[in-house]
Amino acid sequence: MKWRRFISLPIIAVLMLMNIVFYGTVFIFLDDWVGLQSSAGFTNVVIFTLFASLTLFSFLVCVFTDPGCVPSGYFPDIETNDGSDQESRQSEALTKHCDKCSAYKPPRAHHCRVCRRCVLKMDHHCTWINNCVGHRNYKAFFLLVVYGTISSLYSAVVIVGCGVQKDWETDETFRLKTFYITSAVAISLLTLTLGTLLGWHIYLLTHNMTTIEYYEGTRAVWLAKKSGQVYKHPYDVGVYRNLTMILGPHMLKWLWPFASSHLKEGTSFPSVRDIL
Ligand SMILES: [Zn+2]
Ligand SMILES: [Zn+2]
Repeated sequence: MKWRRFISLPIIAVLMLMNIVFYGTVFIFLDDWVGLQSSAGFTNVVIFTLFASLTLFSFLVCVFTDPGCVPSGYFPDIETNDGSDQESRQSEALTKHCDKCSAYKPPRAHHCRVCRRCVLKMDHHCTWINNCVGHRNYKAFFLLVVYGTISSLYSAVVIVGCGVQKDWETDETFRLKTFYITSAVAISLLTLTLGTLLGWHIYLLTHNMTTIEYYEGTRAVWLAKKSGQVYKHPYDVGVYRNLTMILGPHMLKWLWPFASSHLKEGTSFPSVRDIL
C-alpha cells in the first residue's frame, strides 16, 4: 500500500517543516515587512506559494512513485562479440546477479537493504521520503531539491529583509529580536544545506551518474590512473543528452515533476559506446 509509506516520522517532519516555513514567511515576516494587503505583498505571496507548491508536489511524487523494480524473468544481455572468453562472461553474469533476490539485475540496478529488493538505476535510499530514489522518481527528487532550495532562499531573503528594515530602536523587545535572529540563522542553514545538495545533484545529473556510481567510479578512476589510462563514466553521453534522458525531451516539461512519460523501462541505458 503506497499510503503506508506516508506513516513515517521523517515524512511528517518534512511536511511540518514546509508548513512552518510557509506560514512564517507569509503570515509573519512578509506581512510585517510590506503587508499582505499591498500589491508588493500580494505579488510575493503568489510567487512564494508557487515555489512552495512545486516543492510539495515534487515531494509527493517522490514518496508515491515506485523508483522501479526489476521485471520478473529478466535475464542480462551478455555481450558475445567483444572477444571475451567464457569465464569472463560468466563472472560478468554473476556481478549482475542479486543473491538476496535470487534474480538477475539490469545494469545500474542495485539491491536496497531497506526496501529489500533491487531498484532500477538506484541512486540512494532516502529516509526523508521513506522511499528509494531511482529510475522513475529521480527527476522528481531533483526537482524537489531545486524547488526546495529556491523556496528556502526566497524565505531567507524575506526574513533577513524584514529584519533589516525593522526599527529596532523603538518598540521591539528582546524576545522579538531573538525570534528574528533564530529564524534567520535556521533558514540560512536550511538554504545552505539544500544548496549544497543541489550543487551535488547538478553535477551528477549533467554527468548522468548516480550517487552509487560516483563512489564506484572513484575506485575505477584510481585503477585507470594506475595503469596510465583515463576513466570515463560509461553513461555520460554529453550534458544535453544526459539532461533530456532524465528530465525529458521537451525543455518546457523539465521543471514539471509529473512529466515522466519519457522514461524507458530502465533495464538498459545508452552508453558512450552506443553513440560512437
Ligand atoms: Zn536484490
Ligand atoms: Zn530503498
